[in-house]
Amino acid sequence: MWPPVPSVGRPSLPQLAAELMVTASGGVFFIPEMRSTMREYLLLGARVINPAEGLSELRDLGVRDGLLCPAEEISPDAVCLHLRGKVVAPGFLDLHVHLRDPGQTYKEDLQTAAAAAACAGFTAVLAMPNTSPAMDCPAAIRAITARAEQLGVMAVYQSAALTVGRKGEQLTDFAALKAAGVRALTDDGSTPQDEALMRAAMLAARELSLPVIDHCEDASLSRGGVMHAGAVSAELAVPGQPRAAEERIVERDIRLARETGCRVHLQHLSSAGSVDRLRQAQREGLPVTGEVTPHHLCFTDAAVRQYGSQAKMAPPLREESDRKALLQGLADGTLSVLATDHAPHSAEEKARGLLTAPFGIIGLEAAVPVGLTLLYHSGLLSLEQFIALFTVGPRQVLGLPPPSLAHGAPAELTILDPGVEHTLEVASFHSKSRNCPWQGVSCRGRALGSLSHSQLWGEVWDCHLPGRHGKIDAGQACGGPGQTGKKHT
Ligand SMILES: [Zn+2]
Ligand SMILES: [Zn+2]
Repeated sequence: MWPPVPSVGRPSLPQLAAELMVTASGGVFFIPEMRSTMREYLLLGARVINPAEGLSELRDLGVRDGLLCPAEEISPDAVCLHLRGKVVAPGFLDLHVHLRDPGQTYKEDLQTAAAAAACAGFTAVLAMPNTSPAMDCPAAIRAITARAEQLGVMAVYQSAALTVGRKGEQLTDFAALKAAGVRALTDDGSTPQDEALMRAAMLAARELSLPVIDHCEDASLSRGGVMHAGAVSAELAVPGQPRAAEERIVERDIRLARETGCRVHLQHLSSAGSVDRLRQAQREGLPVTGEVTPHHLCFTDAAVRQYGSQAKMAPPLREESDRKALLQGLADGTLSVLATDHAPHSAEEKARGLLTAPFGIIGLEAAVPVGLTLLYHSGLLSLEQFIALFTVGPRQVLGLPPPSLAHGAPAELTILDPGVEHTLEVASFHSKSRNCPWQGVSCRGRALGSLSHSQLWGEVWDCHLPGRHGKIDAGQACGGPGQTGKKHT
């Protein structure tokens, strides 16, 4: 039975906003001089939650040399964070991010994406390969990986293109790409339309224990469509994409997973039929997982009336029955990953109108607030289940070990304020782009920031430095790539 979800049973953003309370967010300071000097932290009084270890308790945590340690072992000079009422979780991993770097850095670049991700609570992302040129060779993978390591903000896992130039014609060299550090294979933005080629790809990927993660879209059915094919596209007299465009490829990929044994992850599912097929495949025991985005959970195709090209997505926003099926898929565990499909575009590109604007919205800085509001505060998911969607689920897809908060584990942490009421202000986002329909929406809950690479990113509540700076007022924060003493209001 569908559980009561009081704040999600509505299609449009203003209605969602009306159900939730509004407050202004607090000021945030960045203190760049702390960046290179502070290496020890004491996190006091938070609820520490790690779904992978069945952990949910009040616990103090120490961080030294980038590793978790007992709080008692921390030196008196450590940065001390008072986190009563807050939650500390393993670092969130966004499994679906378009960095736009190299080649489209007017939309986003590695540094702005890292700032957006880290301050929004993510300590890791999986980068999509549809850069310009596409990530289809080891040299390109090594170059972006080296830059990410030098930046030192977050872990940037790489996916590589399945086919050369993402043209769907010739497979890339999977073994060489894996040797260069690639964790997954995808032509995201499209998928090889030729089933024999995809079958060969899955056989080769399976040999190398690499997952194939797929953007399920049959181009023969979706071609020309700018939104979901339904009553709203008819009313607006614009071409639509039927659900079958997604579902036919979902069926193909499940069939090929069965034949080849390859691990398959289905990206950004949008239709009820796709969720049904995935659920059935999992009952069969097939190694297939699925992902959903906050925008497909929040909106229906009716949003296109209001937001125009800011609600133009691939796959498109569909109908209320689909949205409910996606929520149900999260509730029963069929969908194990919440990912943003963070897709920056310039204002000029999105201003071209519904027919010609590019697909996609930015998501990194809205994902946690929208997700907590929609999924946790609605009563649909527990906080533990919500956290698992950004930690356990995505790590499983990439074949990474489950996250640990044991002493000696890497201190890659997300710090949440699950109850704070605030309004999303897109103008304050760190992302270079502003294509986001959530401007002004009231949310409950957010990430205060993250801790990774021995550095705090974003906003941290009540931070003080005994023996160094004395008490620092509540609401101050430490670090943020490219930020120099900037104050947000
Ligand atoms: Zn895609
Ligand atoms: Zn994508």
